[in-house]
Amino acid sequence: MISETPLLNVIELAKQFPLGGGILSRPKAWLKAVDDVSFPVFGGESFGLVGESGCGKTTLGRLILRLIEPSEGRIEFEGRNIFALNRTEMNAVRQQIQIIFQDPYSSLDPRMKVDNIITEPLRAVGRLSKKERRDVAAEFLAKVGLRSIDLDKYPHEFSGGQRQRIGIARALCVRPQLIVADEPVSALDVSIQAQVINLMEDLKQELNLSYVFISHDLSVVEYICDRIAVMYLGGIVELAASGDFSVSTRHPYTEALLKSVPIPDPHHKSDPFAMEGDVPNPIDPPRGCPFHPRCAYRFDQCSQAKPPLIEAAPDHLVACWLNGGKGLGKVE
Ligand code: SF4
Repeated sequence: MISETPLLNVIELAKQFPLGGGILSRPKAWLKAVDDVSFPVFGGESFGLVGESGCGKTTLGRLILRLIEPSEGRIEFEGRNIFALNRTEMNAVRQQIQIIFQDPYSSLDPRMKVDNIITEPLRAVGRLSKKERRDVAAEFLAKVGLRSIDLDKYPHEFSGGQRQRIGIARALCVRPQLIVADEPVSALDVSIQAQVINLMEDLKQELNLSYVFISHDLSVVEYICDRIAVMYLGGIVELAASGDFSVSTRHPYTEALLKSVPIPDPHHKSDPFAMEGDVPNPIDPPRGCPFHPRCAYRFDQCSQAKPPLIEAAPDHLVACWLNGGKGLGKVE
């Protein structure tokens, strides 16, 4: 069940990276990776962040884990700004926020046995004996569909899907409240992706987890997430309940992403793709709406001013000048 209070609250968050320059000279340019982003994630909720490569979603994930510091804004976890916490306080929060990585091949140390891989976060917490840690590892290995005899094997003895299950067990063994899953199935075969997604959904129900699910694939995010934020050039352009996207998309970029999802039907004729060109250079983003150079609906106002993210319909936010700022579709 989804709680009414935010577990995580991202507030006016921005991150810029300096480019060029040196210790004594100023940067030559700034790359705006995340630009004024705000959203809550409620307890028990799966929140999706979707967009093309370079849209800022992975930087946002790293900020949530406090692997990097923001340029502006804050992130509250259970009401406390994580960027104001000292090392001891942050270590306690890190136990509550774990990550599942994209690549199950590079994210597991090939020289470590599964037992040591899974119990690594438990050793960092340091409260359990070796025997107790092994018991916890066996418990979570069973939860992800592997056997306790697998504890004494090395990563190369497993398939990609099994390795990702080991990565999930490692993230869960400290009993976190929130999992940041960064493209957790994009490196897996399509046939294995559904198994891992279904496993994550089952574990969410069983352990009352919340997810921040990062992906370039809107169809995957729609399947597992309760709400979705679509990102473009560092900012959120649309945010709504997952079921709203296919039936009442309001942003032309989301519409183009939906049209790009392949449909496994040989008789289906795909729509002409409504997006022109590539993602603009984030060092020199376009004036006005950042999507306007690629947008099939653009008009004069689009290149002059950036549309604000507003509530176009109940719980449905969009940043688009169409229909007086309410984007595509029916205006309520
Ligand atoms: Fe397209 Fe204009 Fe809407 Fe931007 S504001 S998405 S350019 S119609």
